[in-house]
Amino acid sequence: MRAHKAADRQVVLFKQGRGSQKDLLGGKGANLCEMTRLGLPVPQGFIVTTAACNAFLVRNAFPQGLWKEELAALASLEAKTGTRLGDPARPLFVSCRSGARISMPGMMDTVLNIGMNDKVCHALLTAGWDPRFVHDIYRRLLQMFGSVVLGVDSAKFERVLATERGGSTHDSSLDVAALKRCTTAFQQIIHDSGCEFPQDTHTQLRLATEAVFRSWNGKRAIDYRNASFIPHDLGTAVTIQAMVFGNKDPQSATGVLTTRNVTTGERSLEGDFLMHAQGEDVVSGTRSPMRLAEMERLLPKQFAALKVHCQRLEDHFRDVQDIEFTVEEGVLWMLQTRDAKRTARAAVGFAVDFVHEKRITKEEAVLRVRPEHVDFFLHPQFEPRARAAAVVIAKGLNVSPGAASGEIVFDPDRAEARVRKDQRAVILVRAETRPDDVHGLLAAKGVLTSRGGRTSHAALVARQFGKPAVVGASAIVIDEEHRCFTVDGKTFHEGEVVSIDGSTGEVLAGALPTVLPLVTDPALKTVLAWADSLRRLKVWANADAPAEATLALQMGAEGIGLCRTEHMFFAADRLPVMQAMILAANDADRGEALAKLLPMQRADFEGLFRAMDGKPVTIRLLDPPLHEFLPGHDVLLQEITLLQTRLLAAAASDRVGLQAALGLKQAMLTAVEALREQNPMLGLRGVRLGIHLPAVVVMQVRAIFEAACRCKREGVKVVPKVMIPLIAHPNELAVERTLLEAEAKRVMKEQGVKLAYHFGTMIEVPRAALVAGEIAQLAEFFSFGTNDLTQTTFGISRDDAETGFLLEYLQKRILPDNPFATLDPAGVGALMKIAVQQGRATRPGLQIGICGEHGGDPKSIAFCHAIGLDSVSCSPYRVPIARLAAAHAALTHRP
Ligand code: ADP
Ligand code: MG
Ligand code: MG
Repeated sequence: MRAHKAADRQVVLFKQGRGSQKDLLGGKGANLCEMTRLGLPVPQGFIVTTAACNAFLVRNAFPQGLWKEELAALASLEAKTGTRLGDPARPLFVSCRSGARISMPGMMDTVLNIGMNDKVCHALLTAGWDPRFVHDIYRRLLQMFGSVVLGVDSAKFERVLATERGGSTHDSSLDVAALKRCTTAFQQIIHDSGCEFPQDTHTQLRLATEAVFRSWNGKRAIDYRNASFIPHDLGTAVTIQAMVFGNKDPQSATGVLTTRNVTTGERSLEGDFLMHAQGEDVVSGTRSPMRLAEMERLLPKQFAALKVHCQRLEDHFRDVQDIEFTVEEGVLWMLQTRDAKRTARAAVGFAVDFVHEKRITKEEAVLRVRPEHVDFFLHPQFEPRARAAAVVIAKGLNVSPGAASGEIVFDPDRAEARVRKDQRAVILVRAETRPDDVHGLLAAKGVLTSRGGRTSHAALVARQFGKPAVVGASAIVIDEEHRCFTVDGKTFHEGEVVSIDGSTGEVLAGALPTVLPLVTDPALKTVLAWADSLRRLKVWANADAPAEATLALQMGAEGIGLCRTEHMFFAADRLPVMQAMILAANDADRGEALAKLLPMQRADFEGLFRAMDGKPVTIRLLDPPLHEFLPGHDVLLQEITLLQTRLLAAAASDRVGLQAALGLKQAMLTAVEALREQNPMLGLRGVRLGIHLPAVVVMQVRAIFEAACRCKREGVKVVPKVMIPLIAHPNELAVERTLLEAEAKRVMKEQGVKLAYHFGTMIEVPRAALVAGEIAQLAEFFSFGTNDLTQTTFGISRDDAETGFLLEYLQKRILPDNPFATLDPAGVGALMKIAVQQGRATRPGLQIGICGEHGGDPKSIAFCHAIGLDSVSCSPYRVPIARLAAAHAALTHRP
């Protein structure tokens, strides 16, 4: 019964609320309650709940009983303070503050100094209050109430203030007479706008409450929520709190601080403050504030007390706090605290420091570091000293991390041309991008837009392709016709160089040097080491060459989950041999080409085995269709025509060479035509190619085992894992494995070396997942190739879709995520679950991993953990993120 009543309450006194009730009381309100409970000096007050706000927004009227509850709470506040709202003898003043569950700084409205009117003003002056202070309160109330509650254009008030200030930008230059004139002028402005400022103080409070409710649906707030993925149905709480006045006398002050440096992570109070001022002056820029350090000198006693409270709050909330305070006539008051926003660097630093200070556990520290934080360390960053010296010309949303410099270009075609033809680095600058801009975006080093939010086209595409991007830099005015943009009165023409930092959203003038990302930050290394001790999933890397394997190891990889052998055939010295192999007219010619490829592959594998020194190395046999190794059909036709023309005009001495060249191209054309398929991705590739043309994969297996034997003889531990791609039917695997294992045994016999080895397969078409039980009889490990599995499950061709209709699907929210970036749990994931369960039913303990790009995506990693995979494999630069994400999965997954 009691619980029911409490839940029904629409108004909660500070001393009744709890810090845990953020849903109901908003972050600001809940933390004010918590500070009250801790015994900190907080001006008392009460909170109108988010439930009341939501009820108001539905009916556009005060919900039943709310006003009565507000008045009752007000009465209790009045009793406590010995003052009364609107009482000329002992007036109470209150603020009416917005505050949602998730903090949206500055996005909603707050009204200060409610309770002032002509009568109170007059009485206070008569009673001998400082007239400067009395008029200052009044003119502030009129301005705030006028603009926030009555909707009068605040510029009108600003104009009057500017005139009264004369040349000065300081409100402190306003004397009593000026303030008094403002009060009169402001009343007039309100009146002229067809409104009336309510002299009744209860009406002031009621209208202010409504206005704060409504500010939940203000444009600023909606835009902010859209950009930050905050739901629109939370509503704001309204905190009504007795005023304390930092503008009361020259010994009063107001300020904001963070308990540590939220940029660098350093352990020092950082903040701004102003003497003789009211809260909003510090952030509004009407006066330039002093550094907090000055407060120690000017108000030493209050500063010492503030430091104690800060420590107390950090201890209590176990995180770095962002705090508002005010000193009234020498007495310190705490007005707000919340977990501080921070940079990635600071976030990682704080997590480690808090463990060392024994305030949180390693598990909590690991959970506090987000994948985006780690990501920040892995993208190119501007060299810190150059960055510090650079001029910031604009700020937008930081939608795709990384740093890039380049010449600004306003058109995708010109951007592409400038990159292709002139080899220039380019930043594509657009008001916003559209699907037909993608080629320019891909050619550019980064993208900058003046419009759009986090889900804008530019942001999506940039993130997808790993391009640094800053969007919605609204200060930039683009003039496409004259190929320039203007910001703050300065014009930048096409071809001028700017830099963008997609991690911070900053646009900087000129070119800046970047530094290579490596996991060298000591705090990051510590967090990742903790993550390693907490995760169950192994993290492997996709690496094709020894240098990549070394990088992967530096990033913390514990093995190679995918070596794509075909990448070895694309090197300039190998491609002609590979082509000769494809064009071979008979087995002898083919054998000759393969004999040349064998030592090259063997050297590659040896390098990988040595680099990985005993860690697992998974090698996938030739996978792509053969036409990928030959020039395109159109290109060949052109070349042939050209050669034929030249042959007609050629001198006799040149004819032999030209004839030979022409012959080769014609042979290629014949081969390309023979290999031509309607759907090459569904064609002769993977195991199908291995069965059709066994000589190539046999050569590859020979190279693998010869390399492994050599390594083993020299004491390098090797357990090769040979992976056969694109299996759909167990019979395919039966044929292929028999053939290849025979070759492996032959090599080991020749070399006189016995090796442990494994043959496994990729699960990358739905049929393979559905018959995984049978496949597991022949496969010693599985690896999910989720790129192909997603393509074949959705029936979507990735190459075409990702720059085409898939973007539209994402913008229209037809798909929640790009299924090629984040595993589709319901479809592709369901197939994976079947494969895991059937595979292990046949072969208990079957090793199962994933080697698609999903292996580096945190959400997908969580899914892989949940369905019991053993490992994830991703590109070397994603390895640190995968290590963290795997730990998060282990810490948060409840089986
Ligand atoms: P925001 O969410 O925009 O920071 P706040 O509700 O925190 O809005 O209030 C704006 C400013 O007014 C802050 O500087 C705050 O400290 C100050 N303020 C709010 N309520 C009071 C009060 N009761 N007494 C003194 N200052 C206040
Ligand atoms: Mg605030
Ligand atoms: Mg594949």
